[in-house]
Amino acid sequence: MQSFTDEPAHVTAIRDQLRRFVADHAPREKRIQWDRERRWPRDVYAQLNALGLTALTVPADHGGAGQDLVAAVAVIEELAAAGPFLAGPYIHTAFYGGMNLAENGSPEQQVRYLPALARGELFFAYGLSEPDVGGDLASVTTRAERDGDTVVINGAKRWCTGADWADVIYCLVRSGPADARHRNLSFLLIPTDTPGISMQPIAHSNLRYTDSQDVFFDAVRVPTANIVGGEAMWNRGWEQLAGRALDVEKLEISAVAYGIARAALAEAWGYARERVQFGRPIAQHQAIRHKMVTAATRLRACRHMLYHAAWLAQEGRDCRVETSMAKLFIADTGVEIALACQQVMGAYALSDLYEMERHVRDLLGMPIVGGSSDMQRNNLAGLMRL
Ligand SMILES: Cc1cc2nc3c(=O)[nH]c(=O)nc-3n(C[C@H](O)[C@H](O)[C@H](O)COP(=O)(O)OP(=O)(O)OC[C@H]3O[C@@H](n4cnc5c(N)ncnc54)[C@H](O)[C@@H]3O)c2cc1C
Repeated sequence: MQSFTDEPAHVTAIRDQLRRFVADHAPREKRIQWDRERRWPRDVYAQLNALGLTALTVPADHGGAGQDLVAAVAVIEELAAAGPFLAGPYIHTAFYGGMNLAENGSPEQQVRYLPALARGELFFAYGLSEPDVGGDLASVTTRAERDGDTVVINGAKRWCTGADWADVIYCLVRSGPADARHRNLSFLLIPTDTPGISMQPIAHSNLRYTDSQDVFFDAVRVPTANIVGGEAMWNRGWEQLAGRALDVEKLEISAVAYGIARAALAEAWGYARERVQFGRPIAQHQAIRHKMVTAATRLRACRHMLYHAAWLAQEGRDCRVETSMAKLFIADTGVEIALACQQVMGAYALSDLYEMERHVRDLLGMPIVGGSSDMQRNNLAGLMRL
């Protein structure tokens, strides 16, 4: 079990660097504007990318900085505290791309993709969900059939966020008869400019750094070399899905939730000290004080769960329970923090003069996205042999 120690100095240095970057390049007015426009700022992201932080999920022998999951989680936290506008694209490269291919890619795929991912020059989108498939991923129906040295894909993915600007879809497909469920799934790398792909945007109220996409595959062909992990991993996608990459995936979405909850608390805290009612700052009213310190206590508990799980993952230890608990606890607690902060800010939490209304929207979605809270509970009951 981890003993609690100071954060490594290089992680603190990254946080300081990112706080300065956010203050200079992503001030509040811009964040409010990006949310309204449902977009992420490519020019600002290009400058962020120059800091080299996407290399933190890529091994050094493939041009990365060597995997440093505690640092990468801290990057997401710092970026997410400024909304999803920089954290989102960072995840598409460092985690959907770098982490997954470092873990599951074939040697050829690692040579081909990892150096560009480490430099932040490639974006991946995640193609798991489908119109009739949410939490029950073993039921995917998008079909993939071998035809010589190509694979032919037919079907549809839903909520494939970023597919319209990403380079590659990391796509879960049904590669054999459906009755074998877990044993007939594969992952494919599908370049988004492959003929036969079309898309339809889905607007949503949370994480508005982009629209999401319905993606349709009509006789789309990719080489068998694009089977994630190589041909030996055909029909073995479930092993890849249930492996370490998924543990880290839960950390990444937990870090987003934590960063946003941190920002929500900071905004409400500052507001409570300034807003005067009945002759004194509302922070002097006991009901507000209690709400604020309860939220701060919950946030501190989230931080411990997040970084404990990240540390276990970095050490290569079994962290399936801790990452599921972190996702469950931080997502659900993030909602409690959001609602408390919203009440503290009263009417202004509903206006677009502040960021609270966005924080609330984003935090309300956290128990749903990236494996719902009830799916984490199911996981945990199984893992803990209840
Ligand atoms: C903004 C946004 C971005 C997204 N981006 C992506 C993306 O990039 N790629 C991607 O693949 N997906 C993406 N998703 C999809 C997201 O991961 C799914 O919404 C999530 O997996 C839940 O699926 P669902 O909403 O279809 O819920 P369902 O699976 O239909 O579940 C609905 C409800 O029933 C509960 N439930 C279902 N089955 C059980 C059970 N056995 N036991 C207990 N409770 C159960 C769930 O917990 C949930 O509360 C995104 C979603 C959003 C909103």
